[in-house]
Amino acid sequence: MHPVWTHPVRPHPAAIAELPVYVIRKWSVRHARLLERIYAGVERALLMAAPVINRIGHERLEKPVAAVEKTVKGVLFDCQMCGQCALSSTGMSCPMNCPKSIRNGPCGGVRADGYCEVKPAMRCVWVEGWQGAQRMKNGGDIATVQVAIDHRLKGSSSWLRVVREQTAAIEERSDA
Ligand code: SF4
Repeated sequence: MHPVWTHPVRPHPAAIAELPVYVIRKWSVRHARLLERIYAGVERALLMAAPVINRIGHERLEKPVAAVEKTVKGVLFDCQMCGQCALSSTGMSCPMNCPKSIRNGPCGGVRADGYCEVKPAMRCVWVEGWQGAQRMKNGGDIATVQVAIDHRLKGSSSWLRVVREQTAAIEERSDA
């Protein structure tokens, strides 16, 4: 048995399992396919609105869009606003809830029953993610190696970043 299991102050899994934020996180993973569809719709809507967004200016929109993103994703995923959203590649389980902030997981410390070695009362976010990925159409993306996180982007909107990246890609294609 892992030594932490016998520690007297180890929180009971039920303690964390009842936290609303944790319950909703788990719901999101269970409904990863539905959220994948919604996410794709949001992305399409953002790209359709890209000309307007670009005209208004990303700097001007950053604060209000980031506030909306933080609220929506905070409720659904316990989002930590890393600015480089990976949810579509992580089974709708936010990797930033991993105590080690691992972007490619799970780590070698995950317990045999799927719980975290650092927070023993919490299911490993990557074990959850692999389960969520099984439900998704593009769940195979979880096998793609994620690049290291750029902490300078913390707090910024991933939604606006998608618009910038897609706009640049379209311009690049039209220049070619
Ligand atoms: S990956 Fe980043 S942006 Fe996406 S939900 Fe997690 S903290 Fe938020």
